[in-house]
Amino acid sequence: MTVVLSPLKESISDFLQPAYYSKIVVLVDNNTRKYCYPVLKSLLPKHLLITVEAGEQHKNLTTCEKIWQEMTRAQLDRHALMINLGGGVIGDMGGFCAATYKRGIDFIQIPTTLLSQVDASVGGKLGIDFQGFKNHLGVFTQPKNVFIDASFLQTLPYVEMRSGFAEIVKHCLIADANKWEEIRKKDFETQNWPDLITHSVEIKKKVVVQDPTEKGLRKILNFGHTIGHAVETYFLSKPPKQRLLHGEAIAAGMVMETYIAYRKKMVDLQTLEQVEEFIFSVFGKVAVTNADLPTIIALAQQDKKNRGGELRFSLLDNLGSCAYDMKVTDAEIRQAAAYYVG
Ligand code: NAD
Repeated sequence: MTVVLSPLKESISDFLQPAYYSKIVVLVDNNTRKYCYPVLKSLLPKHLLITVEAGEQHKNLTTCEKIWQEMTRAQLDRHALMINLGGGVIGDMGGFCAATYKRGIDFIQIPTTLLSQVDASVGGKLGIDFQGFKNHLGVFTQPKNVFIDASFLQTLPYVEMRSGFAEIVKHCLIADANKWEEIRKKDFETQNWPDLITHSVEIKKKVVVQDPTEKGLRKILNFGHTIGHAVETYFLSKPPKQRLLHGEAIAAGMVMETYIAYRKKMVDLQTLEQVEEFIFSVFGKVAVTNADLPTIIALAQQDKKNRGGELRFSLLDNLGSCAYDMKVTDAEIRQAAAYYVG
């Protein structure tokens, strides 16, 4: 699998020239059909287009069944190619459908959100939500190729762009202190997106290559995510207007987990304040109150990454460096949440 960062016109034409596929199917959601598909369509030979509703609530078995039905109706054989054009939802679900159709057909990912370009595009994790559990059904399968074209971001709403930025911030904090210095001195609006996408992809690739199935080092990519997922899940129970995007929840999680690292004397006060100041300046503060804390803490304790009743976190041990499998107590989570609420 290779990740290619360049205008789609160049990357996909090069790929399709020598490759032979019996049929090509393109999966889009209603937004990427409108904003991104016209570019791709002009570069492809005859193909089948499958459109699904946009949004995480559609990343489920019902939508997969619709996709598999359309693939079956079009009589796609094992030599067909699936192209997933969209954000993380389309990439995860389309990849899952391709990896399981007739025991697996080739697929390529064309991520069109910042989050999917800097995170979901690398690592081979595919899947769908099931009965309220996020990414509950899935597989690890590598796509044939990933084509990243930053020009797709021009139509992406501001909040979606900011959500993806949280993963860029995470990559800098866990693996590159120099890049962290660079991004924290700029406003969100003046960041160099193509450069940051390349940087994030390289960091994630380097980590994933060493630990493809998350037995060790790959866990550092979960920095901010244990508490962040709990915050994200908690807000799913709120009315739609108060819901949080993934990156907004992860941003809050990174502040709380840096506080835990500070209390464990893994980072100093200056580091905590620097991380907190930058994250609050970009993302603001998530509206959690003391009344929300017991549920959020209980959700963090249920985190699937924990083993044998013990909570294990990935925590910064310096700027640009992260330790994993760090034991964290319930009291430490409570203190961090209380610190965040203020
Ligand atoms: P998403 O796919 O829902 O996209 C967000 C919104 O942006 C959608 O409404 C979509 O239609 C729209 N959109 C996409 N591209 C657009 C464009 N260029 N212009 C205008 N609108 C556009 O969400 P996401 O944030 O990209 O991804 C979140 C999903 O990714 C989650 O399901 C998460 O579990 C998954 N994820 C997977 C991995 C992995 O390693 N596989 C990593 C991180 C996240």
